[in-house]
Amino acid sequence: MSTLTFDYIVAGGGTVGCILASRLSHAGFSVALFEAGPNNYSEQIMSPLAAPKLHGTQLEYNYLSTPQSNPGNRRIPNYGGRFLSGSSAVNHVNRTRCHSTDYDTWAHILEPSRPGPRGPMVITTGDRHYPLREPLRGALSESGLTFNDAANGGYFFGFAALTEKWREGRRQPAGEVYHLSKTAVFTEIIVKRVIIDEDAKIAKGIEMIYGRVFSATKEVIICCGCIKNPQLLGLSGIGPTLRGLAIGHPLFSKPGNKDGNPIDWIVTASILDTSKAAAIDKLAPKDPLIAQPHGHAEFFVSYAPIAATAFFDHSLAGTHVSTPILGSLPTSHGTVRLADKESSSDPVIDPNYLATEMDKEAAANWIPAGCAHNARNTPKSIDCRRRDPTTWTAAPNK
Ligand SMILES: Cc1cc2nc3c(=O)[nH]c(=O)nc-3n(C[C@H](O)[C@H](O)[C@H](O)COP(=O)(O)OP(=O)(O)OC[C@H]3O[C@@H](n4cnc5c(N)ncnc54)[C@H](O)[C@@H]3O)c2cc1C
Repeated sequence: MSTLTFDYIVAGGGTVGCILASRLSHAGFSVALFEAGPNNYSEQIMSPLAAPKLHGTQLEYNYLSTPQSNPGNRRIPNYGGRFLSGSSAVNHVNRTRCHSTDYDTWAHILEPSRPGPRGPMVITTGDRHYPLREPLRGALSESGLTFNDAANGGYFFGFAALTEKWREGRRQPAGEVYHLSKTAVFTEIIVKRVIIDEDAKIAKGIEMIYGRVFSATKEVIICCGCIKNPQLLGLSGIGPTLRGLAIGHPLFSKPGNKDGNPIDWIVTASILDTSKAAAIDKLAPKDPLIAQPHGHAEFFVSYAPIAATAFFDHSLAGTHVSTPILGSLPTSHGTVRLADKESSSDPVIDPNYLATEMDKEAAANWIPAGCAHNARNTPKSIDCRRRDPTTWTAAPNK
């Protein structure tokens, strides 16, 4: 069978794969991009509100973890996009820029550090007019949280207006906004293994599941996502044990409310004193994962049951409010192991959630804080008994 040769081969046409392929091909290199799923930018996907509706469909990998001992032996679902643009075309489009500490850490690792080129992705806070916006701002302030109007400027603590990655009410899949016109794009084709030159110890190409081989004169770049990367490496005979996975409305009729997620504010929070937890976990105080300042958790009030799989079974008319709380800097390490020798199978995923004291501390701090914020402050400011969101009003504080 014939072999095609490119400067760069990118395995996995998701968020990272599309951006790298676009940048490299526009810099003048010949680049081939291989994606397991189809090319699909249908209306089913392009709404920034589509994320929960895509779970369980062919457009996603629908993974289930092994039973997790810390969260009550439950098997936790994990998802990932399975088409060109990958998870950038199935995610919730929320966007919080990293803390400046993270950029400094990466600059240190990636010396010599250079600022990247500006990107085509548009970031927006939308034009929100949710009826609970100002009462919630008051409730967050009453909780002792500070409003941060420059949360995307390198210091994200406090509460801020939610920023998202959509433009004119449509999401921005990586493969669409980063043009692939100069890249050779192959879709619905699964990379079976990376071909290694055993003498030189370098990756020289890839083999597809039907046996076709492609070779790279410069590099093979693996961008199959955090679950499928270890699987592809394992199937290529790389890595003895596959460790290292840090797994961690209302009024839609009003202009500006229908485009993005039904959320006004996002809170980014830190564990103030990490020393006790870090000592139990035997982490060096200067470990970049825990060095302060860092955001250990995020939470927000959504005017919909946004994290529930039953999202669209419920009315989005403001009758359901939820408070998802996200651990944003987990230090627990789990494993991704091969289930069998098939690249199309799901691997065995054991994220080992909440295994470290740091992660337990973040959950213990911020889950009660998020709940307390709702229980203590929201009812004081808002009359929640009214079911019709068009008539929601701020109740007088008693
Ligand atoms: C449901 C959900 C909601 C999310 N919400 C947010 C959010 O609101 N904000 C945010 O910032 N992040 C969010 N994320 C996370 C974010 O989308 C991901 O971190 C990011 O897209 C990962 O990029 P990636 O390139 O590493 O992987 P992906 O974008 O997942 O791409 C991997 C690609 O590789 C392909 N692939 C895998 N194996 C093979 C193979 N053997 N051969 C060929 N192709 C292969 C896959 O089909 C996929 O297209 C969310 C993720 C999910 C799943």
